[in-house]
Amino acid sequence: MKIVSKNFGIKNNHQIDVAIKNGIYSSLNIVFKKEPKEIVEEVDLSGLRGKGGGGGATGRKWKMLKGEKKVYLCVNADESEPGTCKDRQILEKDPHLLIEGIILSSYAIGANESYIYIRGEYTTQAKILQQAINESYQKGFLGKNIQNSNFNLELTLHRGAGAYICGEKSALLESIEGKRGHPRLKPKRPEPDYLFGEDAIVNNVETIATVPFIIKNGYQAYREFGTACSPGTLLFAISGHINNAGVYEVPFAYPMKKYIEEFGGGVWKNRKLKAVIPGGSSTKILKAEDIEDLKLDYDSMREAGTSLGTGGMIVIDESTCMVKTLKNLLKFYHEESCGQCTPCREGSGWAYKLVKKIYEDNGKLKDLELLKDNSFIMNGKTICVFGVAVADVIDGFLSKFEDEFIEYIRKNNVS
Ligand code: SF4
Repeated sequence: MKIVSKNFGIKNNHQIDVAIKNGIYSSLNIVFKKEPKEIVEEVDLSGLRGKGGGGGATGRKWKMLKGEKKVYLCVNADESEPGTCKDRQILEKDPHLLIEGIILSSYAIGANESYIYIRGEYTTQAKILQQAINESYQKGFLGKNIQNSNFNLELTLHRGAGAYICGEKSALLESIEGKRGHPRLKPKRPEPDYLFGEDAIVNNVETIATVPFIIKNGYQAYREFGTACSPGTLLFAISGHINNAGVYEVPFAYPMKKYIEEFGGGVWKNRKLKAVIPGGSSTKILKAEDIEDLKLDYDSMREAGTSLGTGGMIVIDESTCMVKTLKNLLKFYHEESCGQCTPCREGSGWAYKLVKKIYEDNGKLKDLELLKDNSFIMNGKTICVFGVAVADVIDGFLSKFEDEFIEYIRKNNVS
């Protein structure tokens, strides 16, 4: 079943006339006849969950708005997590679907100004998207009095400057405000985010691109796919040691092994599967035997000791050295720590140094204990979840492959 990828195969679908011919913007006829709160209710009933990694309930987030302040909708297109490249497909192949979703969602939450924050490295996608925004203004889908509805919407494309941490929603908002992309301290209770002192809702690209389907077909149609707790579909990405790397949309609860074999074409070079990082590189790694009966939904992944994340799977074959893999991941995370909090800034650096030392044959068995202590210090003691994610990555590798680390060290040392 395809919801957001339905038009991906249509030639020139990024051009507005082609997109309109294929049904994009048709939901505007429906939405402006309804009250905004009806749209919020429909999205809430659909059970739509955030598709950028967190999986929070979209309707519940929208309902936190009290209507006392101006509201901004900010779409998070800062897709930077290794293994994740799904939003990029929407930006390239169906940008008008995203704009349609932004119009519907902005109308629902009462936003007259919206932003798309796109990662700096997505230069081609930014050009395609800006062209689509310009076309949408020319056709009267953006701007003043859209379709004689009295609803006004200004949409701005904001380009990032290459910082991974700007995918964290509060860092993204700081960056839009023109400041350094540092995550903010979190409130004690859930409340709307803020931008320029007003309320802000931050949603991921795929989440917003799903809204037109729900409005056109009703919440029940969306709930026909997936499970009660993970309704609908997700654009899962597959990369690494696989025959057909790519992005394929399937309903939640699709069997992971079947996905790897049917869509990914199986492990490359006729090798055996060793492990899978299931939802972007910051989710906990799984062994081949862990995925035998594993389903791609939030609850199943949590029960397996990991998380669904962005749905970007990285397949690892039997020839892979786990010490080297963890070293490479930690190098990335150490370089991308924003540096605000000591446990993350220093801890990610120490973790990288320790694993590099092991990889370069200078490791001792006690370094593994140091690595675990270091993770304990990072976990839960930082401003944002980045520090927790780095600790989780280390914990995942050591809980599944500690034997391999011990063997690696023993080969070169007696300690
Ligand atoms: Fe920055 Fe890391 Fe602290 Fe997050 S946890 S605010 S990335 S230093």
